[in-house]
Amino acid sequence: MTNRIVVLGGGESGTGSAILAKKQGYEVFLSDNGNIKDKYKEMLYNYDIPWEEKKHTERLILDADEVVKSPGISDRNPIIQIIRKNEIRIISEIEFAGRHTMAKKICITGSNGKTTTSSLIHHMLKKAGMNAGIAGNIGRSFALQVAEETYEYYVLELSSFQLDGMFEFKADIAILLNITPDHLDWYAGNMQDYVDSKFRITQNLTEDEFFVFCSDDEITVKELERIVHKAKELPFAMKKKDNEVAYIDEDDNLRVDYGDSPFSMPAMELGLSGKHNRYNSMVAGITGNVLKIRKDLIRESLMDFQGVEHRLEKFLKVHGIQFINDSKATNVNSTWYALESMTTPVVWIAGGIDKGNNYDEIKDLVEDKVGTLICLGKDTSKLHKAFGKRVENIIDASGMEEAVNKAYYLAGKGDTILLSPACASFDLFENYEDRGWQFKEAVRKL
Ligand code: ADP
Repeated sequence: MTNRIVVLGGGESGTGSAILAKKQGYEVFLSDNGNIKDKYKEMLYNYDIPWEEKKHTERLILDADEVVKSPGISDRNPIIQIIRKNEIRIISEIEFAGRHTMAKKICITGSNGKTTTSSLIHHMLKKAGMNAGIAGNIGRSFALQVAEETYEYYVLELSSFQLDGMFEFKADIAILLNITPDHLDWYAGNMQDYVDSKFRITQNLTEDEFFVFCSDDEITVKELERIVHKAKELPFAMKKKDNEVAYIDEDDNLRVDYGDSPFSMPAMELGLSGKHNRYNSMVAGITGNVLKIRKDLIRESLMDFQGVEHRLEKFLKVHGIQFINDSKATNVNSTWYALESMTTPVVWIAGGIDKGNNYDEIKDLVEDKVGTLICLGKDTSKLHKAFGKRVENIIDASGMEEAVNKAYYLAGKGDTILLSPACASFDLFENYEDRGWQFKEAVRKL
């Protein structure tokens, strides 16, 4: 019997877990070794939940029956090691909240495209009049919503860190978008650990559930030869090769062959552009068909979805020059998709903290599409080395305003200025959102 729950981390996820635990009648304690934001302190206070900050008091933590760990806390953190030594079970917020809801859960993971696809599916569910929440890595925590709302469906965006703390949780529709070597720094460079964590999305699935995956993704397909699961497989791919249920046909229609009657719409009509978004739209199409949403509503949702801020976000056009904010592209793979979708000459703003990037895979695309590269960041040497011989102009900028001004000066009418950094933002910015906002602010000032 679990009586005492200790929550580690006092952010969105931790505070939500503590509130849910309290509402479910557990004895709760929350501990954060950093500062807790006032907003969360107030919530804890309102629910009469004891907490501490700037420390972890072992005595108060080690008498837990179970620990709920926020996704930002690394397994290598000393307190986690101590908790493990004491054989106390550590779970994620998602595992915990999943126990306390009967709602159907549509779960999305992958290296790239999670937020976009989750938001698109949520948009579709709302349009179809379903009582659906969205949570996970996005917006209000899942635990808090389970505590305070009465949703019948949840769209859950799941990172590997959340999946790592999931054991008995079961998705109703499990979606794995793709696997590329991002976040390897967290997994000490061990790709298999990263792959294993993504595949936890399939755990506990039975014949009644669905597993949606990309059969163009080599790592996923290879791993599936090894993994055993019972769910119905619903693969998607750019072209139909085998048993794919969603693909783009020869006439450039997005097709979903699942359910009573096939679904089809011109890919040109999709609200989101780029090859990656064709994948994301296929996934939403499959989900809509599984949930038996009316075809006209699926189609309308795929057409009118506006996208999510900082993801290939078409911002202003200034004197015929289009500015695109793709600040969320923090790895080479997402930048590949951004460049791939460009149809004009590009002035590319890139750089930041490089998480072990290998630029080889985008070299040809860059040579093909980019006339000017503005390197933004404290250390730009790797970008110079990779692209010095491949782009005509390559210059440095030490801040966003300078980058945007230089880009604007060097761009010609009809060009696109693309911020798609392929790197994390922490050298110059608070996070990728701050980076995207500073970009847009600098563009507004032109
Ligand atoms: P995540 O939540 O997984 O980080 P986002 O939806 O926020 O993904 O998108 C992150 C970046 O990845 C954006 O730059 C976007 O253009 C790109 N992207 C979106 N979908 C995909 C996909 N299916 N494959 C590869 N890159 C993608």
